[in-house]
This record gives sequence, C-alpha cells and structure tokens, in this order.
Amino acid sequence: MQPSPLLEVKDLKTHFFLDEGTVRAVDGVSFDIRPGVVLGVVGESGCGKSVLARSIMRIVRPPGRTIEGSIIYDRGLRRGTDDDHVDLVQMPLDDPDMRDIRGSDITMIFQEPMVSFSPVHTIGQQIIEGIMLHDPDISKEEARSRAVEMLRRVGIPNPEARIDQYTFSLSGGMRQRCMIAMALAGDPNLLIADEPTTALDVTTQAQILELMAELQREFGMAMMLITHNLGVVAQMAEEVIVMYLGKIVEWTDIKTLFEDPKHPYTAELLKSIPRLRRVKQEERLTAIAGSVPSPYVRPPGCPFHPRCPQAIPGTCDVVEPELKQVGDRHVVSCLLYEDDAVSRNTESVGA
Ligand code: SF4
Repeated sequence: MQPSPLLEVKDLKTHFFLDEGTVRAVDGVSFDIRPGVVLGVVGESGCGKSVLARSIMRIVRPPGRTIEGSIIYDRGLRRGTDDDHVDLVQMPLDDPDMRDIRGSDITMIFQEPMVSFSPVHTIGQQIIEGIMLHDPDISKEEARSRAVEMLRRVGIPNPEARIDQYTFSLSGGMRQRCMIAMALAGDPNLLIADEPTTALDVTTQAQILELMAELQREFGMAMMLITHNLGVVAQMAEEVIVMYLGKIVEWTDIKTLFEDPKHPYTAELLKSIPRLRRVKQEERLTAIAGSVPSPYVRPPGCPFHPRCPQAIPGTCDVVEPELKQVGDRHVVSCLLYEDDAVSRNTESVGA
C-alpha cells in the first residue's frame, strides 16, 4: 500500500493580473508528494515551476494571487498526531501556524542565494534567527551551536569562524551550502529546491547535488526539486512532473519517464538532451519546434498543439485535454490517450 501523501495539491490556480492581461502561471495543477520522496518538476522557462513552488510556500506577491484550489499538508506526520491536515491556501499569512509550517515543516532553497540572504547580517545571525523563531525554547548558545553544526554538515570549512562572516565574502558554492544549512536547520518534512544549482559552475553543481542527495537520505525528508535540467532529475528524483504553460502534462516515475514517455512534449524534451550514444553515432540533437507562446495569449485546445509533431488537426486545436490515468501513478494530459476526444470535439463545436 502506498503511504498517504505528505502534501496534496488539488486544482491549484495562481494567476498574475497585469495591465497587459492575465497570466495563468499555474492553471489547475494537481499532484501529491509522499513522505521521503524526491519529486522532480521540469519544463521550459515560463512553464510555472517556480510560481508553483512559491504558491506552496504562500510567498506569491501581487499582482499574483492563488485564486482557486487547495494545498493539503499533513502536519500530523511531524507532530505524531493522526488526521491533522491543514489547507495552506486557506490559512491566513499571519497565522502563527502558517509561519511555523513555512520555515520549519516546509522550507525552500532559491536559485540565487545572494538575493535570499541579507547582506547586512552575518550568516550566523540569519541561521540562528530562523532556528529561534521556530524553536522558542532554545537558548541563543544552543541555536548558535546547532547553526555551526549545520554549517559543518554542509561542508563549510572552519564553521566556527565562517558563521560570523557576511555572504559577500563567500563563493557562490559556499553561499548555496549556507542556504541549504539554513533550510535544513529546522529539520523540515519537505524541502523545495528551486533550480538550486543553476547559478553555479559545473563542478560546484555536481558537489551541491551530491550534498543534497546525501542530506535528503540522512534527514529522510521529501524534496520537490525544480529544474530545467533532465539530467539532474535523472540523478535525483523518484517521480517527475512535466509542466507546460502552467499545467501538468505528465506525471510518472523516473524510469517510466525516460523509457516510456507518453506525452509528445515529454518525448520532445528527452530528444533534446545530449547523450554520449548520440555523440558516438554523430546523431544531431533536435530542438523542440517553435517557442513557448506568449503568456497572455494561450493557444486554444491543447496548449502544446502549435509545436506538437503528433497534433490532430481539427481536434487538438479545439479540445483541451484532461489529465488521464495511463498507469500506476502515471497520468498524461493528451488527447491521444482520451478515447472520447473526437466526441468531445463534436460537442465543443456544437455539432
Ligand atoms: Fe499533441 Fe494533441 Fe496530445 Fe496536445 S493533445 S500533446 S497537440 S497530440
């Protein structure tokens, strides 16, 4: 039997209301994350990955707003109580429980740690403040030694001295390690990592990914890993969701994603990864045709139809696909897997 979800997102919609029009950044997204599982979230820039993460953390700022849906979090897993589910979307932002969940139960690592840390406070001040905020019974000395321990654990050399430094004196890799230390200091149930290695050089990227995989196993936490890099997902994730224009187009386990992708967008993404076999056979890399449409003008029907090599003329440009189950924990949003696509087309044109 599958363990019950730690976090269950249902029909979540986060839109941005701009003068130029409405951007449906997250548009009816549903998935869950089970305890201890690494879920990869992939897709091209602008597909809604980061807004999804920010919606879960409830840090979307105006003109963006979560307008529908629910994010059910099982906080009983941390507190050892049964049936203690809360809907994060319904919790007021100034609710102490919400503050406790965000930063203690669920934490986040951002792409660029330089903008996440305050430049006028030392690393230690920021980590210690976070620890004391979520554990009011802890003394400042205990919080400091926990922060030193976390810095040591993430591979910061001489943490007793580094803790009193400012982030500008550290390299990009060191800053990201400090960010990880801050995120893990509260021993979270779920870590959301938004492109955690994009701003780093290749060698440091590999070191940080290895560190994150090690810590994920050690802490036993679930992780939502957002990336545009399918290689990173292959290395770290057990399950993957693929997003396109604010929607999930495929959600499956990592093996199925690489061996039997169902959605044409997933298949096209996989064709665009460089592989050693292809280099040896002098195969050309293929790019996905066209580009991501303007966020203000969504194509009718399937949003991927202008770029899809398998699009069915007269159907895919009219009928919007629904998420369909095609296997155990494998769902796809594509009319090729809907038996009633043609009749839905007839209904939609009023024939
Ligand atoms: Fe392609 Fe049609 Fe499937 Fe969309 S619904 S992915 S256009 S085949």
